[in-house]
Amino acid sequence: MTASPAPRRLESLICGRWIRGDRDGQPLLDAATGELVAHIDATGIDMAAALDWGRKTGGLALRAMSFHDRALMLKALGLALMEHKEEFYTESFRTGATRADGWVDIEGGIGTMLAYASKGRRELPNTRVLTEGDVELLSRDDSFSAQHILSPLRGVAVHINAYNFPVWGMLEKIAPTLLAGVPCIVKPASQTAYLTELVVRRIMDTGILPDGALQLICGSVGDLLDHVTGQDAVTFTGSAWTGRKLRAHRAIVENSTRFTMEADSLNASILGADAAPGTPEFDLFVKEVAREITAKAGQKCTAIRRVMAPAGYIEPLIAALRTRLEAATPGLPADSATRLGPLASMDQREEVRARISELQTVARIVVGDPDVTPDGFDQGAYLNPVLLLADDPMNAAAVHDCEAFGPVATLIPYEDADQAVALAAMGKGSLVSSVFTNDPDIARNMVLGLAPYHGRILIGNRASAKSSTGHGSPLAGLVHGGPGRAGGGEEMGGMRGVKHYMQRTAVQGAPGLLSAVTGRWIEGAPAQSDIHPFRKSLAELRIGDQLVTASRQITQADVEHFAEFTGDTFYAHMDSEAARANPFFEDRVAHGYLIASFAAGLFVDPAPGPVLANYGVDNMRFLTPVYFGDTLQVRLTCKDINPRANAEHGEVRWDCQVSNQNSEIVAQYDVLTMVAKTQEAAE
Ligand code: NDP
Repeated sequence: MTASPAPRRLESLICGRWIRGDRDGQPLLDAATGELVAHIDATGIDMAAALDWGRKTGGLALRAMSFHDRALMLKALGLALMEHKEEFYTESFRTGATRADGWVDIEGGIGTMLAYASKGRRELPNTRVLTEGDVELLSRDDSFSAQHILSPLRGVAVHINAYNFPVWGMLEKIAPTLLAGVPCIVKPASQTAYLTELVVRRIMDTGILPDGALQLICGSVGDLLDHVTGQDAVTFTGSAWTGRKLRAHRAIVENSTRFTMEADSLNASILGADAAPGTPEFDLFVKEVAREITAKAGQKCTAIRRVMAPAGYIEPLIAALRTRLEAATPGLPADSATRLGPLASMDQREEVRARISELQTVARIVVGDPDVTPDGFDQGAYLNPVLLLADDPMNAAAVHDCEAFGPVATLIPYEDADQAVALAAMGKGSLVSSVFTNDPDIARNMVLGLAPYHGRILIGNRASAKSSTGHGSPLAGLVHGGPGRAGGGEEMGGMRGVKHYMQRTAVQGAPGLLSAVTGRWIEGAPAQSDIHPFRKSLAELRIGDQLVTASRQITQADVEHFAEFTGDTFYAHMDSEAARANPFFEDRVAHGYLIASFAAGLFVDPAPGPVLANYGVDNMRFLTPVYFGDTLQVRLTCKDINPRANAEHGEVRWDCQVSNQNSEIVAQYDVLTMVAKTQEAAE
């Protein structure tokens, strides 16, 4: 056995410097061995200065970068952190996390950062302004329109985190915040802050983040919240009690500071009536429930606390769960044979025991004994898995209200699907629930009943068993957060998470000025024509560069040739009588795709040049029928130019409008092309 490193005095990273608090501070003990790991204290730190420095230095630097620059920054950071993962695992064992638990925290956290890095480049433009939704036309003559824009807050995001995921908890919050262009101050829970501090040190070693983008408080936040403004945001993960207190903080209330909360949650998992013992769904349910009770010793905000099953399946369920829970061998977190690590601290174990006693007022223990410490582990905060049964769940308020934040769950028998949904709703809003069924009707009825009370719902069955990410895993692209008791927050969820840190503004005005603000051409804005825009590289192209093409008449022979060539002989193109019987047409009409093909033939400039490829169309609509003899003309306007940060090309979006001889728009869509950054890059 290697000797443990000497205890450290944790430091905070404030205004670009690592500093200690004025006092020796609170001792933090290894969860498994009880050895002293570190002291933590942040007294005397100037919190107002930290906020100010973040706003002025970090915010300025981040806002000078485009979304793609910031996404690439996150990618570089994620990859650099991955190089240090073994060092993080070693420290993580001291928090009580086994290797499997640490994987969720460390590699899950870095993976979330990398997921935001890649989403940022795929889903956001390479600009500093984000537009949202369509242009709203507010006048008949296109002289007054509106567009929603999103811009980064000018403040700091203060992230107050829980002790259970010291790495993931920080990274899943700072990734969307930094991508939005907003600096962060992270305040990890004291108990496991030594791991967060180590990760922040490694982040700073990379030199990848601009000054002021990230600060860290190890210890109490002191008077920090007194200084937040309406441009700052505060996120909180932890107990509902602390969360409610912080939400009502004077400065947060007075300034309408954005406050996101992710608190306790009595998550339910429900076994469908079709999933009788012996079915694959029953087995999957047992496996998932046992895993959720033991993983991270049950200290997960998404863990299954309420296990619901048809009353007739309860006895076989207890037997199956007992087998699995008794096989969960406790041990030192670093030992690969360990299936159950300790809780984060002795205090936490006492807290969980107290909550189990509360649950016992309405439920009885059917597996495990909370008062017996596993043999040989007296120094650590170990607790055996405990399964309770509530015989009368509709009258067992504590089961739906009391969260034992450890390896503890309560079995709840239900009579029918409606009652199962009603029981789940008695949790007053949860982060996640799951339904194990192979019956489409049960899946639909349960999910629609549960949805208003949950941020995420997982459906488990045999078809998804191999690929399912499981009940307890929040994912970067999906909403994490839940209504009511769960805090009412909505972290992550892909770009939803980024937009938490941005202000949405409706901008109204003349289209030309709106285009100047957003960098996007819109209908009614000025346009200019000189050489064919396909001859221009990104360096030369401007939004509003426009081509109005020659005209082309569509004949019956064209339509019949297209029909025969493609095999699309739909009656509206081929049969005059049938077409006239159709409510939309007066006679045979041209194919929509023929119109789009002729349009391309009209606007394309064929010679090799800066336009490298057409990669699709967006929002294609055929608005007016085209009859034989009609004449088509195209107006193609450069709408959006999006150079890629790490390539020699970028995307250009063209507004394509096809009209007939009466100036009626027959088709409207966006053409998407890849264009070289320079003429040289195209060669
Ligand atoms: P707390 O609510 O006590 O603490 C959460 C975070 O808030 C910590 O960083 C804590 O810092 C900080 N904090 C506490 N008081 C203040 C304050 N007045 N001002 C600013 N920050 C403050 O939760 P714990 O982490 O101690 O966990 C207790 C319970 O919370 C668990 O038993 C569980 O029920 C629930 N929990 C829920 C989680 C979830 O994800 N939903 C995750 C973890 C816990 P410090 O540690 O320095 O006190």
